[in-house]
Amino acid sequence: MSGRGASTGPAPAGAHVHDHDSPEGLLTVEEAKQKVLGAVRPLAPIELPLTDAYGCVSARDIVATIDLPEFPSSAMDGFAVRADDVAGATPNRPVELKVVGRALIGHRPEGVVGTGESIRIATGAPIPAGADAVVPIENAIVDGEELVRVVDGPAVGTHVRPRGEDVSEGDVLVPAGKRLGAPELGLLANAGQATPLVHPRPRVIVLSTGDELVPPTETPDFGQVRDSNASLLFGAVREAGAMPVMAGIVRDDVESLRDTILSFEIQADAFVSSGGVSVGERDVVKAAFFRRGEFDFFKVAMQPGMPQGFGHVEGKPYWGLPGNPVSVFVSFEVFVRPALLKMMGRRTLSRPEVTATLTADVRGPKGKLQFARVEVRRDARGWSATPTGARGSNLISTVARANGLAMIPVGTETAPAGTTVPVMLFRSSED
Ligand code: AMP
Ligand code: MG
Repeated sequence: MSGRGASTGPAPAGAHVHDHDSPEGLLTVEEAKQKVLGAVRPLAPIELPLTDAYGCVSARDIVATIDLPEFPSSAMDGFAVRADDVAGATPNRPVELKVVGRALIGHRPEGVVGTGESIRIATGAPIPAGADAVVPIENAIVDGEELVRVVDGPAVGTHVRPRGEDVSEGDVLVPAGKRLGAPELGLLANAGQATPLVHPRPRVIVLSTGDELVPPTETPDFGQVRDSNASLLFGAVREAGAMPVMAGIVRDDVESLRDTILSFEIQADAFVSSGGVSVGERDVVKAAFFRRGEFDFFKVAMQPGMPQGFGHVEGKPYWGLPGNPVSVFVSFEVFVRPALLKMMGRRTLSRPEVTATLTADVRGPKGKLQFARVEVRRDARGWSATPTGARGSNLISTVARANGLAMIPVGTETAPAGTTVPVMLFRSSED
């Protein structure tokens, strides 16, 4: 092994790079990210019912085919009138109108308002033909069923919600590229666009490889480990807005891995596995996919998460992440999440970042970009970042306590307390 990350000369011909801190033969994080992002595309848009389309990105400008509201309606309980008839009405000189019918919500109004006439109307009911204003009940003195005295004459349009006030036919309701949130669903429902064309959520098959693994519901024998990664990935995929499908644990056996992948192939849009990509071609993911045309195994100048596998199986993206849980989390954040967002048609692929001041020294592997788990806080002096524990990539509790990944740049031996570093925020609130 050469010295810690300092060597810049070429590796001797034929040498295998085993020095995990050496920059030789490693892709930068940016290069690896581009490689992955460049190889995925938004899923082909489909029409989905509104409840399934929630959270999805519109694949086109959704244009109104009708005016909203579709008919003029009353904003008050009262009487639909002709403004001309009651112009100048006052408490001292009320104008008497004949009541010729009723306009109820959800019904075509009974009758037409002629000169000297009115129709009793409820809030939200369609304005009857002939009427052009509404006298609220408090400005009317009702005299039996058939007579009303108006004591305040409204101008044309008063208390009338006009047709098309909200949206005109031809308006863009939702532009292409916008996510459908609660207001968009409400608007589209109102406009009768019940199956918008959206990029669907990818179904992502998550699996863990490892002979040592048992499901979290089982008690491991000595030396066995409860599978952390499948659950972690399930949550991470769901949080990205995609649909995780639990494939569980697969033994370190090429045939089992291939069988599992193929059994999920029809429903899958993507696969994410953990483990089996690190050391040799004996590692199961490597053994199954190494040198298959569309698959690549590479090392990235990052810590944790150096060994990565990425490619396509039956045309669907497959991420072979490393095995340690922290590496899985970080690799997912750096490579998988942005790619899933891209598949969903999202335009902003990165997490929010802040610049924070380290409250303690963070030792880095000099030749790699280190993602340090930190708890970020904001106080009067700005953002601070406190490491949540030691660096080991098996220490999953350090992720659970963190809300950010501080990025200690390549070339830094130790980032001392007081240094400002960029931090990627993966949780926005305390809960
Ligand atoms: P591997 O790359 O498969 O050799 O895995 C590296 C390390 O991560 C080993 O110590 C594994 O036991 C551990 N590991 C792999 N997969 C999981 C998992 N699903 N849950 C917890 N630990 C794991
Ligand atoms: Mg393994």
